[in-house]
Amino acid sequence: MNSRKLSRSVLPILAGGALLLALTAAWAEDKKDKASKAPPKGAVVLFDGKDLSGWTARGDKPAGWKIEDGYMEVKGGDILTKEKFGPDFRLHVEFWLPLMKDAKGQGRSNSGVYLQGRYEIQVLDSYENDTYANGSVGALYGIIAPNKEAQQKAVKPPEQWNSYDITFRSPRVDDKGKVTEKGRLTVVLNGVTLIDDGTFDHVTGGALDNKLDQPGPLLLQDHGCKVRYRNIWLQPLSRKLGKDIK
Ligand code: MG
Repeated sequence: MNSRKLSRSVLPILAGGALLLALTAAWAEDKKDKASKAPPKGAVVLFDGKDLSGWTARGDKPAGWKIEDGYMEVKGGDILTKEKFGPDFRLHVEFWLPLMKDAKGQGRSNSGVYLQGRYEIQVLDSYENDTYANGSVGALYGIIAPNKEAQQKAVKPPEQWNSYDITFRSPRVDDKGKVTEKGRLTVVLNGVTLIDDGTFDHVTGGALDNKLDQPGPLLLQDHGCKVRYRNIWLQPLSRKLGKDIK
């Protein structure tokens, strides 16, 4: 057998074997990933991959996002949970960003996770895509910029699943609405801390209302990009626990 014939017959087998190995590894990684992100005791599962029964669109209309293979995909406006949460909680949410190679800055796979429907944790493709710091992935939009070095370590190229683990304590206000204690926020992207106990005292653009300390829903933003979400759970924190756990 000459070398050309050999490469024709052997190479496809080798390539097939390599592909099989890669697929097996990816499957094992995905399984491990899912297993490690199981909701803790006492957590409220907000999306289990099956339906949007716990969600509505703005204006109390039915939520119209697409459901497929255990995830939901942005379609037809923002959606929010029927249930309200707060003042303190921990949130886990996973998101997947489409490749939008011709889009730049804020146009590139933009979405957002609004805590209490008021405080947007930015979702954006910040892999080789520059924008203003407090508008990049992991930012409390327009208010707190993530640590840039940590962010660039944490970001993945598009078309992969990412995770946010967010610890949130809403600001406290007095009878006149004056902030007596600032809100506190820790944002972890793919296991890397981007905001470490940052403070804030006002809502971000697009908030449902301005009631800083009142319970509110989780809202996911439709910014015109086909971003996907899965495995969303929230664990209410007691005041004491909130102080003990960042
Ligand atoms: Mg956004």
